[in-house]
Amino acid sequence: MRLRIEGGLVVTMDASGRVLDPGVVEVEDGRIAHVGPEPSAEEAEARSAAGLIVVPGLVNTHCHLSQQLGRGLADDVDLLTWLRGRIWPYEAALSEEDVEVSALACAVEQIRNGVTTIADPGGQHVDGAGRGLERAGIRGFLGRSTMDEPEGVPESRRESTEETLAVQDELAARWDGAADGRLRFSYTLRTIFNCSDELIEGSVERARSLGTPLQMHIAEIEAENEHTKATRGTTTVRHLSNLGVLGPWFLGAHAVWLEDEEISLLAESGAAVSHNLASNLRVLGMPRVADMLDAGVLVALGTDGAPANNRMSLIDELWAATLLQKGMRLDPTVLDARTAFAMVTRNGARALGIDHEIGSLEAGKAADLVLVDPRTVNMTPVHDAVSALVTSMKSENVNSVMCAGRWLLEEGQITVLDERELLAETQERAEAVARRAEVRT
Ligand SMILES: [Zn+2]
Repeated sequence: MRLRIEGGLVVTMDASGRVLDPGVVEVEDGRIAHVGPEPSAEEAEARSAAGLIVVPGLVNTHCHLSQQLGRGLADDVDLLTWLRGRIWPYEAALSEEDVEVSALACAVEQIRNGVTTIADPGGQHVDGAGRGLERAGIRGFLGRSTMDEPEGVPESRRESTEETLAVQDELAARWDGAADGRLRFSYTLRTIFNCSDELIEGSVERARSLGTPLQMHIAEIEAENEHTKATRGTTTVRHLSNLGVLGPWFLGAHAVWLEDEEISLLAESGAAVSHNLASNLRVLGMPRVADMLDAGVLVALGTDGAPANNRMSLIDELWAATLLQKGMRLDPTVLDARTAFAMVTRNGARALGIDHEIGSLEAGKAADLVLVDPRTVNMTPVHDAVSALVTSMKSENVNSVMCAGRWLLEEGQITVLDERELLAETQERAEAVARRAEVRT
């Protein structure tokens, strides 16, 4: 039976930026069947969205599913302590069941923030993460933390280039296209500190043949460029360009320490950047997002992982990302609301290579959408809906979330599982993992 969502203000985020007030979105068999100011002639079950804003499901282009149990385990520490003293021991202590719960809790937090697509830039126990996402009903790209150079890496995590590629090939065969196509697999590289050129080249080749993005953390800290200069003779982005790795298939995370020429290389190649404001500010620095946009780089947003951000809200990221660029440029016109909201919708979809499927409300695309209720004291009054979505929306304004035609959140209630039970298990497992990892905060 077709579902007709009617009476709401519809922010389509299509190429012309159509806003319909009121508008109608019709859903059938998991797809958007019709969008317009008037209903179609088809018979449908009506759902009133009067007073609500209908937007495309948001896209989180950088979200570490296996780190959710580590929230709060690495606060107020420098980057090396963060990684070697906290995150690697935490990751080494995870079981596959822990990761399933971690991914599930992460997905539920994302759903509550209006997110319907998550890209994991590489975690542990991908089978557990895949089961977690499958249970949550969300769309996602799975990835496995990938390194082949052992410096500083715990013994248990050391793998050769061939081994790490073979494990990913196997995961790609198992998960790419799973859960009715909602799940995809993505080849990932942790950072250039721990990845050989052979691994980088093997990964890009596989990513291109699979047709999903190659994800990599790039230009995170100044010392990374120093390291790349010492080992490869130039900075990370220049080196990746020389290797032929940059292209529309490449999704670089963070990209904090870039020179003008590197921004041009990213733009010319069609590569995408995932900007993760909170974790950048906390440990890495202030990326030149406005400069990247001016140069034509495709920029999307992500939350990063719970131990780097704590507050895994793409809505908060959206708001704060605009402020940072305005402040850096001392120019309040920079990163306007329409540009910013595109980052979490159509740009996110393009960065993941699935803009034909998601990212806007258009007939034929997957039925991934969010009903936002602006009738709260933080969001009322609304003069310009898109502006309000960026500047005043908070997680609590997310009323209902649909992914592939199925409601995952309905009028504030998670429909796919018992959330209280999940939270109790999350707390219990997180404490046990921290004990096993011997992480002391
Ligand atoms: Zn990351």
